[in-house]
Amino acid sequence: MRFDKFIRPDNLQTALKYLQKDKDAVILGGNTFLRLSERKYTLGIDISNLKLDYIKESKEDIEIGAFTSLRTIETDPIINKYFSELLPESVKHLIGVQFRNNATIGGAIYSRLGFSEINTALLVLDCELEFEDHGRISFNDFISSPKIKRDILTKIIVKKQKGKSTYTMMRNANSDFSILSVAVSNFGYINIAVGNRPALAKLPEKAMKLINSDNSKLDETADLVAEELSFGDDLRAKSSYRKLITSVLVNRALRKVLL
Ligand SMILES: Cc1cc2nc3c(=O)[nH]c(=O)nc-3n(C[C@H](O)[C@H](O)[C@H](O)COP(=O)(O)OP(=O)(O)OC[C@H]3O[C@@H](n4cnc5c(N)ncnc54)[C@H](O)[C@@H]3O)c2cc1C
Repeated sequence: MRFDKFIRPDNLQTALKYLQKDKDAVILGGNTFLRLSERKYTLGIDISNLKLDYIKESKEDIEIGAFTSLRTIETDPIINKYFSELLPESVKHLIGVQFRNNATIGGAIYSRLGFSEINTALLVLDCELEFEDHGRISFNDFISSPKIKRDILTKIIVKKQKGKSTYTMMRNANSDFSILSVAVSNFGYINIAVGNRPALAKLPEKAMKLINSDNSKLDETADLVAEELSFGDDLRAKSSYRKLITSVLVNRALRKVLL
């Protein structure tokens, strides 16, 4: 990746103005993904001075600034207190600590990558995103349709809820991409998300309806998730293998939040 010019604005309005007036300008997060691209941009907009690196707790919510590193998500006491292992588990196998110190949650969400594990975990939470121009949008809406373009993600707002949540995945080797990711939460209503199919994470609506109507139908629900969602092939796994392990991982995750 290359750019002709570089700026580091110290307010969001200036950063947004530059982004929107030039279609070849790019927001620079931690650059972990961007730097692999061959693309040439006219302008790189560094957002490290915008004070978007924070985790704050209010009465109802937890707010995570978009420039917060994945390593902070892994170790932060507030995140750990409310959602136990869910978010830390979804990031801790990513390459290594130095990498996670650079990669930001904003970059992980905005790039909408099919292999992004934190997106699977966020999907089972009551979660909204705040953009500088478009305002608030639910996390589910953002990842299920690419409506928002040329905007800056400023924060992630997660509602505090009582209950259990868990994250599990399958990968061939530590630090490789995961073959499948599964997140389940039970805050009175059970949510199931499956990602790395290798497409973006999705909620299997029929299976969720089944388990919420009868909490004893664990095995049937796990099998239905595998039937309901679609899976693809890549160099790490075939769709048939992904489908097979979906029932197993969903079953284990459901047991953790229900039994
Ligand atoms: C080698 C490698 C291995 C990986 N392995 C895994 C893995 O195993 N599991 C996993 O879940 N993920 C994995 N990832 C993905 C990783 O999580 C993302 O690369 C990372 O989170 C992106 O964050 P970043 O801050 O570096 O984004 P950048 O690379 O800086 O940016 C990515 C995109 O997001 C945009 N952007 C960044 N911040 C904002 C913002 N605040 N508002 C608007 N747009 C923004 C940028 O313009 C760019 O388009 C891997 C990536 C790499 C490169």
